[in-house]
Amino acid sequence: MIRAYRCAGVHFFSIRKTVRQNLLLPFFFSLVLTIVGFVFLPANAECSSEGKSKSDGSVTPLVDEKACNAELIDRLLTVIEKDIVPLTQEGVKTGNRIFGAAIIRKDDHSLVMAGTHHKDSPLYHGEVYTIKKLYETMKRPAPDECIFITTHESCAMCLAAIAWSGFDNIFYLFSYEDFSGFYKTPYNTEMLEEIFRVKNGNYRKKNSFWTSYNIIDLINKCSGPTKEGFLKRVEKLKTQYVEMTEVYKKSENGSTHP
Ligand SMILES: [Zn+2]
Repeated sequence: MIRAYRCAGVHFFSIRKTVRQNLLLPFFFSLVLTIVGFVFLPANAECSSEGKSKSDGSVTPLVDEKACNAELIDRLLTVIEKDIVPLTQEGVKTGNRIFGAAIIRKDDHSLVMAGTHHKDSPLYHGEVYTIKKLYETMKRPAPDECIFITTHESCAMCLAAIAWSGFDNIFYLFSYEDFSGFYKTPYNTEMLEEIFRVKNGNYRKKNSFWTSYNIIDLINKCSGPTKEGFLKRVEKLKTQYVEMTEVYKKSENGSTHP
């Protein structure tokens, strides 16, 4: 009798196991896939429409690098002077680093967002923090309608973050070499070499995701008083960045974090 019950129990269990394997698990798996689809697909659809990864090499140059793009250079410098530097001057007092970024529209060059480094997270470099702030705003232009400005040549993480976000250009003021004189961080070129085998910070400045422009190189394509005026503004900015670096070094974070 007991054996019969046991057999019946085993049989019942095997039926349940069979049902579980053949019906319940696929059902459960389908349910999970459906939920995942509902939750994540709209977000992905939004990302694919806003952040176009350009694998077809279709990035068109924003400027003629052989000409003097005076109007654009003036706007880029003005955004750094008026929108990024004041934020940074406040930020360094509380231990945030000097690196800043801004996003302006391609069509009318109006400011969309400006930001600087934030010490709250090791990932909050000026570029990433600015992108984060951009995506916290409900109404924003698509990345490929924007110009991405950085005060300093971006690190490996930020170069990738800008590509992942769908911006097709980067305009930076100080190159790795320029700011190594007043802000010592080996991480930029070291990480590029150690992780990606890119020597001397020599990554591809024209690639299928974005084109990267050095603002000082663009200035050097101008001449006469226009060029002189721009270079004076760059010198003033450099002085301000040296001063901000000193303030940062004296902050609580400055002595421990490069
Ligand atoms: Zn960075």
